[in-house]
Amino acid sequence: MDVQHLPTRDDADREHDEQNEGGSAAVGDHSAIEWTEATWNPTTGCDKTSPGCDNCYALTLSKRLKAMGQAKYQNDGDPRTSGPGFGLTLHPDTLGVPRSWTSGRTIFVNSMSDLFHSDVPEGYIRQVFEVIADTPQHQYQVLTKRSKRLADIGGRLDWPANLWMGVSIETSKYRFRIDHLRDVDAAIRFVSAEPLLGSMPDLNLDGIQWLIAGGESGPRSRPMDEAWVLDLRDQCAAAGVAFFFKQWGGTTPKAGGRTLEGRTYDEMPTLDYV
Ligand code: SF4
Repeated sequence: MDVQHLPTRDDADREHDEQNEGGSAAVGDHSAIEWTEATWNPTTGCDKTSPGCDNCYALTLSKRLKAMGQAKYQNDGDPRTSGPGFGLTLHPDTLGVPRSWTSGRTIFVNSMSDLFHSDVPEGYIRQVFEVIADTPQHQYQVLTKRSKRLADIGGRLDWPANLWMGVSIETSKYRFRIDHLRDVDAAIRFVSAEPLLGSMPDLNLDGIQWLIAGGESGPRSRPMDEAWVLDLRDQCAAAGVAFFFKQWGGTTPKAGGRTLEGRTYDEMPTLDYV
């Protein structure tokens, strides 16, 4: 699930991370990086699955990283749904990376992939969860569009207390992903409405602690209507769900700013488990 869904990072951050992660000696060593958040990609690559994927940043970046010779990005995917360097690939050699980070940080898992993609074996997902459970100094955020698989296998997984699980929805048609998410036993369940491509009235937010909304960025970004965002904000307020407005989007992530009716929304869920 590409990292454009992360609340606070921009393109330069992502590229810096991926170039570091894609290298060899630099894997896991973020000591020179001043921000506290990090990405960890125990798998890379993906396939488009719904309209929110149309301008997938990870797909574009993978093509560049392949051309630069980055070892993790040499496996090509199906050109109809994926692309150069973006074939789904497991990287078991990176499973230990978070163990080497002794200072706690928020880690976005699979900024360049989708952990619940059908080509990721359940046993491998289990190994990722074990690393998460073994490193309680970190908080992990996992985001998927493969909510059906999440629901199918979620009951068989041991859910670590430091794992936030989210689904991405772009229009009302994909609200069923929230229903799937509600079924899993994650400490924090969150929804990423980004890129927001349509109105989403009457969402059922029971059991959801956090919602992130944002517009698309990049040269082919699609516009977002203010009324869609305001409605999500109001639904969150009514349901007691923390609301985070990330950006309007545009040519670059910061092009449109991130104020909504004159203020910013940076709400975060309450960490009852800490
Ligand atoms: S699910 Fe995420 S990573 Fe996969 S193609 Fe769609 S946007 Fe890209």
